[in-house]
Amino acid sequence: MAFVKDSDVQFITQKDVMFIINFKVSQLHKTTGFDPDQCLNLLLKFGFNKKVILKTCNEQFLTALQSKTEQDEPEECYVCCLDNQIIRLDCGHSACRNCWKSYLIRKIEDGNCLIECMDPKCKLLIGKSVIDEFMDDVASYESLIINSFVKANNTITKCPDSNCLLFAKTNTAEPQTVTCTCGRIFCSSCSQDPHFPATCRQQQLWSKKCELLTPKIDDDSQQWLLEHTKECPRCLMTVEKQGGCTLMTCSNKKCRLKFCWLCRSDIATHGIYYCNSSQLKAEKARLDSRADLANFITHYNRFEHYQNSYKNIPPMISDAIESSEPLLQKAAYSYFNARKMLTNSVVFGFFLCNGEYSDKFKDFLHSLEISTDQLESSLLNYLPSQGSKRVRFELFEHHQDIEKCQKELLEFCAKGQEFEDLNGQSYRDAWKKAHAARVNNDSFSQFFSNWLFASVLILALLVFLPDFHIWLPDFSVAYGKTLGIDLRDDTSQSYLRTVFLSLVSSFVVGFFDLIG
Ligand SMILES: [Zn+2]
Ligand SMILES: [Zn+2]
Ligand SMILES: [Zn+2]
Ligand SMILES: [Zn+2]
Ligand SMILES: [Zn+2]
Ligand SMILES: [Zn+2]
Repeated sequence: MAFVKDSDVQFITQKDVMFIINFKVSQLHKTTGFDPDQCLNLLLKFGFNKKVILKTCNEQFLTALQSKTEQDEPEECYVCCLDNQIIRLDCGHSACRNCWKSYLIRKIEDGNCLIECMDPKCKLLIGKSVIDEFMDDVASYESLIINSFVKANNTITKCPDSNCLLFAKTNTAEPQTVTCTCGRIFCSSCSQDPHFPATCRQQQLWSKKCELLTPKIDDDSQQWLLEHTKECPRCLMTVEKQGGCTLMTCSNKKCRLKFCWLCRSDIATHGIYYCNSSQLKAEKARLDSRADLANFITHYNRFEHYQNSYKNIPPMISDAIESSEPLLQKAAYSYFNARKMLTNSVVFGFFLCNGEYSDKFKDFLHSLEISTDQLESSLLNYLPSQGSKRVRFELFEHHQDIEKCQKELLEFCAKGQEFEDLNGQSYRDAWKKAHAARVNNDSFSQFFSNWLFASVLILALLVFLPDFHIWLPDFSVAYGKTLGIDLRDDTSQSYLRTVFLSLVSSFVVGFFDLIG
């Protein structure tokens, strides 16, 4: 299930991570027989994906990875022109120790964990053992390796606290809330503050949107926003118009949809040069975009409201989190979580399309809000005097209530996550599609049953009223003529054929009308 909470999480040090990396190196070494330096460089180059490495690497590539050093007698260095002890790599390129060292330090400071030979044309990758030989302090290069490993690994995340050097190691790749030994609480996947039920991607997009829009939400700037920005039709990111060009590119790095400023259609189907959509469609696009912006502002106001409640939790309740009384401590903790979850739910809700699912979502959210308020008042009732038995029971009940509400909300939202896997599109897009497919199905079955009913009726009339064809309107007679059939001719074979043909063509025409 998604949104697992604090399941088996371990907090490990940099040394432990390095140990895991070395284990991977030795595994690859065992399978391939390449030397450990090569193995590490291969792992770094291919995102620690052993399968890809085994598929990709060929001998030519491997020779580019060799980097044993050879020490020669002192002679003039090609780089600094001083007489020094020269160190030559396998590729034949050489320099003095000082030159290699300053080159490597510069590369490491720039954040490169794959370091090529100093010669700009040489593709040789320098191995870790060679780099370690030159460096006084191996930690800085190791932390680059660790960063690259953590980035590629979705079960290990660095604690975002700048003073903390620990990593959270989880059993699953599912994002979850983890609490570090240092006290920092974060998402195990994106290492941001917990944002569930919103997904990592939604949260990221939402923050970016807030950054861009919130300084401009006052009345004066709203007009400016309406005139100069439109929402990306795929991911809802706000995109600012640049110059006179109508070709827009979504500013969300993961989306980058190119769309037409006038009609908000995908350029892939629209064509780059000229917008030939009708005035009506362009006007609709403008209104849609305006509605999307208004929708964001509504959600943002709600978000801010919840966030304020979260930030201004009564001090009495925040103190209770440290309480030694288990019920009180748990209730206060749940209350905190619930306030945070209400805030995050607004983000999740923003990305939903209107429909059945979003209505249900609002119901869940509403019950969470009610339980949160109830828990707050029973906490405030209980706290000053540790209350009577009745007050204590009330607190117990409301605590149970809120746990249930939170669990239900998370489970409900996790169900919606399945939709995110569809081609990696946003929920909104996927819901729209799922909804559209359902609408199409419904109207098709309705059309089909109407058509069937009409056909049966006409056939029945033909069977029971032999003179029925006389009543056929003139245009159908004309239509019959184009098919080479005279409807006024009394042979039954002729009009049965005609009726059959008209039924088939009415079906075809009706069907294309429906989907077009
Ligand atoms: Zn030199
Ligand atoms: Zn070289
Ligand atoms: Zn920490
Ligand atoms: Zn996350
Ligand atoms: Zn986009
Ligand atoms: Zn257009």
